[in-house]
Amino acid sequence: MSAAPIVAFIALEAIGGLGASKPNGPIQVKGAEGVIYPDPTLCIGCLTCEVRCSQVHKAQGLSDVPRIRIFNDPATKVDPVVQAAYPDRGKFHQEPCLQCPTAECLYVCPVDALQVDPKTGARFINEDKCVTCGRCNEACIFPVSSETTATNQLVFNQHSRITYDPDKDVFAKCDLCYWREGGPACVESCPINVRIRQGIIKVESGRMCLAAPASTPETWDKLRAFQTFEGSPAQGKA
Ligand code: SF4
Ligand code: SF4
Ligand code: SF4
Repeated sequence: MSAAPIVAFIALEAIGGLGASKPNGPIQVKGAEGVIYPDPTLCIGCLTCEVRCSQVHKAQGLSDVPRIRIFNDPATKVDPVVQAAYPDRGKFHQEPCLQCPTAECLYVCPVDALQVDPKTGARFINEDKCVTCGRCNEACIFPVSSETTATNQLVFNQHSRITYDPDKDVFAKCDLCYWREGGPACVESCPINVRIRQGIIKVESGRMCLAAPASTPETWDKLRAFQTFEGSPAQGKA
């Protein structure tokens, strides 16, 4: 972790330093077609989503830090169907990247490592280009909850929806698994989603523990309001 700022400084000098010509504000980019839309009331904190996220990215030769994170959250009202099926589980919430239409992380990158997948519109980091300057991390408008409440108890010193990977010395963020046939691995593998699909857990049509709806302005507005958790550092930031 400690080498990153020096490497970033040298790399920034090599590309023209902090004065590199980049827009100063949001730019028009293709919107993401989908977005990860969590329902904390259904989450049992099993961490399958984090593990699968790590696995599929590692298999793709990418950083294996989990791009979605689960936090312990005593304020979560657990859905009765989950309480009945898993009496000892619940009171978690999920924090993914929100694939923002404004993509504040995108236009600050000095080397165009933060890109938009032409097919899905996913905002993703090209790890081969990333010079670890951390600007995207600073620019992300959604802070992450305190890692003291991270369900996996891992500490990345993360403070946004973008994570520094000290092993690969790159930053990583949710890319909606844009290269995968089956779409986002977390949505596919969440055991609550699986049981909802199987009809074992019965909830209103369309509800999932991790859904992947179209990223319409209305969906994103709802997601933004809900992901600025009461009492969390995200509140008031978006
Ligand atoms: S992806 Fe982020 S950390 Fe990497 S070069 Fe771009 S702004 Fe810097
Ligand atoms: S990394 Fe942050 S700013 Fe960028 S799309 Fe995700 S939530 Fe939005
Ligand atoms: S896989 Fe589903 S239930 Fe398990 S922690 Fe992730 S979102 Fe929650």
